[in-house]
Amino acid sequence: MNNLENFSPASSDTGFTETIETVDVVGHFIQGGLVAKTTRKQAVYHPATGQVSKQVALADTALVNQVVELAQQAFPEWRDTPVIKRARVMFKFKQLLEENADKLCELIGQEHGKICHDAKGELQRGIENVEYACGAPEFLKGEFSKNVGPDIDSWSEFQPLGVVAGITPFNFPAMVPLWMFPMAIVCGNCFILKPSEKTPSAALYLAELLKQAGLPDGVFNVVNGDKEAVDALLHHPKVQAMSFVGSTPIAEYIYRTATSTGKRCQALGGAKNHAIIMPDADIDNVVNSLLGAAFGSSGERCMALSVAVAIGDEVADLVIEKLKLEMQQLKYGHYADEQNDFGPLITQAHKEKVEAFIQSAEQQGAKIVVDGRNAKPLGYETGFFVGPTLIDQVSSEMVSYQQEIFGPVLQVIRVATMQEAMQLINEHEYGNGTCIYTRDGEAARYFTSHVQVGMVGVNVPLPVPVAYHSFGGWKRSLFGDLYAYGPDGVRFYTRRKTITQRWPSAQIRECKQFAMPTLN
Ligand code: NAD
Repeated sequence: MNNLENFSPASSDTGFTETIETVDVVGHFIQGGLVAKTTRKQAVYHPATGQVSKQVALADTALVNQVVELAQQAFPEWRDTPVIKRARVMFKFKQLLEENADKLCELIGQEHGKICHDAKGELQRGIENVEYACGAPEFLKGEFSKNVGPDIDSWSEFQPLGVVAGITPFNFPAMVPLWMFPMAIVCGNCFILKPSEKTPSAALYLAELLKQAGLPDGVFNVVNGDKEAVDALLHHPKVQAMSFVGSTPIAEYIYRTATSTGKRCQALGGAKNHAIIMPDADIDNVVNSLLGAAFGSSGERCMALSVAVAIGDEVADLVIEKLKLEMQQLKYGHYADEQNDFGPLITQAHKEKVEAFIQSAEQQGAKIVVDGRNAKPLGYETGFFVGPTLIDQVSSEMVSYQQEIFGPVLQVIRVATMQEAMQLINEHEYGNGTCIYTRDGEAARYFTSHVQVGMVGVNVPLPVPVAYHSFGGWKRSLFGDLYAYGPDGVRFYTRRKTITQRWPSAQIRECKQFAMPTLN
């Protein structure tokens, strides 16, 4: 039953009358239908033109509280649904995602600005998490030990937590939510997603597809909003766990607040990802892979390589010379033009912030080799563009090195030895991703063993773990103990229960025993 009588979505056969493509105020997806009610709203931009394209409704505390209650009501039936049936919803969902990929990528392009080929890549990585979730009957089998004592068997089972929530960033409108909710749902939880208010539509479309896949109403809900909605989720006693992905200051706030109210929490934060270029590396390969890893998605990826640490001046000079040439060929512009390598930044404010970092590097003594400021691609002069930027002679004292830029800016640091390069990485506040380019197995092995970073590549610039591993950084790139998705995702969204059971045979009599039971 839909308890949201005072809200606007009329219930029809499909549960909603509008579709995400027809709205100009992006609302919420609650109890199986689109809900447009809002007291506050905020502009959503088309970043390639700089124009406002629509508005997004911002949920207030009262709305969030109602959604939690509805999700809580849906929980018992979903928890008790056989796991194979929950997995079947995921199989169908995967099929629908593939069939509707173009529409989803279009929504991502409109609001985020990333080029269609990049949006397709994001979606594919997200779908792989749905594929992993389809294996729930296997990974939820639990653990069993027969005869742990006389007539005693023991097993551990993994039970869902209840209502859980996810807060996601603007830069992966589909993939990061897909890191979270397929796993949470297939494990038997009900999920409330609060997407970024800058890219709110993809999440609603995912919700529509999940409904089409057969998910019961109330199991997956989307509330769009800002800090008010997040705080309402953080403080609601019926929300059992919070998954967060976003910037480090907010990740830390979420983690501290959630855990202080007794919730389980994983909060993934920002990054500064270094690539070490050893003198024996294949420099042409390095340059090709650095281009995509630094400038793909305008550098708005938490795994973007933003610092190249060259071992020796000879390596640095060669890499810079080749990069400079290649960077002249890079194209940026509108998301629908597949010829483009990357798109705009997310907002005007973010564009100005990225340009201010470039300026600060210059003021602190770095050399701007390729300057992407004042980028105005033809026909999109008012968009939020920064062109590809290369900065040499960067040092660890510079603000542009210490902080995350999150733009198409690659900085080069020159050091004399690999030890010096590793010291830089290990002393940096972030520890999300890193990579070493080398042909030397011994150096690579030393690097992977000793670098203080959660996700490490050897000649792989973006070592984003596949869906059957788990994703997370070290240091201030992750607050919490469990990584996102994969095996850690199963553990995060379930609670272990261990049962020890005896069915005594008629011959065995229980005797009084006051010492700790043992099997001597
Ligand atoms: P953000 O921290 O500004 O926002 C993330 C989410 O938090 C959004 O849903 C937003 O509405 C909410 N939020 C923002 N301010 C809040 C506040 N004061 N209180 C409560 N909630 C708040 O991040 P963003 O700009 O959307 O995304 C970019 C950041 O995310 C970068 O730092 C990037 O490195 C990081 N990121 C990290 C990963 C990872 O896996 N480690 C992945 C993607 C992005």
